[in-house]
Amino acid sequence: MKCVHISAKQREQEWNISRKELMEIVEVGILSEEEIEQIISSDFNPNRCGFESKGEIWVENILNIGISPAKLVEIMKERFVSSGGAIFEGKSLASISVHDDLAVLNLSDGDSLPCRLVIDAMGNFSPIVRQIRSGRKPDGVCLVVGTCARGFDRNTTSDIIFSSSSIKRAGNSGVQLFWEAFPAGSGPTDRTTYMFTYVDPQFGGPKLEELLETFWNLMPIYQDVVLENLEIRRVIFGIFPTYRDSPLPAAFDRVLQVGDASGIQSPVSFGGFGSLTRHLGRLSTGIYEAVSGDLLDARSLQLLNPYMPNLSASWLFQRAMSARPQIDISPTFINDLLFANFDSMQKLGDSVLRPFLQDVIQFEPLVKTLGLVMITRPQILPSIFKQAGLGVILHWSGHFVMLGYYTFLSTFMDPVLRPWVESLPPKNKYQWKRYLEAWKYGAGLDYRQGE
Ligand SMILES: Cc1cc2nc3c(=O)[nH]c(=O)nc-3n(C[C@H](O)[C@H](O)[C@H](O)COP(=O)(O)OP(=O)(O)OC[C@H]3O[C@@H](n4cnc5c(N)ncnc54)[C@H](O)[C@@H]3O)c2cc1C
Repeated sequence: MKCVHISAKQREQEWNISRKELMEIVEVGILSEEEIEQIISSDFNPNRCGFESKGEIWVENILNIGISPAKLVEIMKERFVSSGGAIFEGKSLASISVHDDLAVLNLSDGDSLPCRLVIDAMGNFSPIVRQIRSGRKPDGVCLVVGTCARGFDRNTTSDIIFSSSSIKRAGNSGVQLFWEAFPAGSGPTDRTTYMFTYVDPQFGGPKLEELLETFWNLMPIYQDVVLENLEIRRVIFGIFPTYRDSPLPAAFDRVLQVGDASGIQSPVSFGGFGSLTRHLGRLSTGIYEAVSGDLLDARSLQLLNPYMPNLSASWLFQRAMSARPQIDISPTFINDLLFANFDSMQKLGDSVLRPFLQDVIQFEPLVKTLGLVMITRPQILPSIFKQAGLGVILHWSGHFVMLGYYTFLSTFMDPVLRPWVESLPPKNKYQWKRYLEAWKYGAGLDYRQGE
């Protein structure tokens, strides 16, 4: 199978991930453990979830490794080329024409490339995704600003999430601010600090410049540093749109979205690199089977980005964490709610807390957490209804029921059906294998405890 890759510049900023998530790349066999060590630029513990003026929870081995995308892409590039792949660096895709027997990529310099399957990994702002979603406004947006700066004397631990005690002003908007901070691999006092907020697009939100102004004012207090003593090495910003109907099913024959373009990343953490590694085994097997079985019509490709109730259910958490101007709730509500949930998860133990921190929502831990919050803090419930809205809660309840159903199907029906699936003719076998995967991943049962 000949592969081509059209690529743009590699990014300098490190990705944070856990070793467990990174090892998925080794398990699918595309990198060795030695190569994994080469791409790790920082490794730190412990990691904090902090809730200003409420309390904090410390965990180990969550987002505790910084990896260099530039090094990873360099190694993968060599591997790809030596396996017969071709890379067209710096080229840009202008359009795709899909025919019965092939797709043709038309590049902006006039060149064209024929292929059997187009894998769209053009991220959140993929033009193909924009076309499929007909330019529709996202259901939620996360805005992030930050820096990588030198001069942090205390730089051995990280913050996975630190939530401000109350809603703050940024420009003309009221926003609930969250922070993340990680030691960076470029030097012992180098630290990356992100400030982010979730925005409901129907109410509008601050501009990135306004958020950056707020960042300069609040970051020194948050990190207990003097701004003038820091050497700013990079300013970072990003916009993450989310759509409730994610992952995005294939809309055209011979074109499949992966990574951020497919919307498979958590709408809360946006840890898209982590989600790429988690789904790598499932997707590489599925894509291989689709190509070798010539199952490249849109319906067959849709089975590779199926409905996942755990991803749909996590959308409510983003809504609960966005400040909504016309809703009359306490300015400390979001921080209170987060602390209530994290405190309950910690009391319930690692089997509940750790999958959540690694973006995997599972039925039993969710039931236990919601149950404990309801029993210990029933007074918070009316504000949850006010904040999220009845319609969203009802919609969410449907995904919650489906999460339970997928858990049942994957736990009890999968072992019964699997031998029968293996005996099916190729097309049916391909379809049924994808159903079994959808139950497993949609219920978060792909997650294995332990490092
Ligand atoms: C500030 C910030 C911090 C982050 N930190 C983390 C983290 O710590 N951990 C984590 O897991 N995730 C993190 N993420 C998310 C992570 O970067 C993404 O989830 C990940 O990069 C997704 O990979 P992707 O290949 O799907 O898309 P992208 O990395 O967005 O790649 C898309 C590529 O397609 C190219 N492209 C777009 N249009 C065209 C075209 N027409 N022709 C050719 N090429 C095109 C783009 O130039 C780009 O190179 C962070 C993101 C940001 C913005």
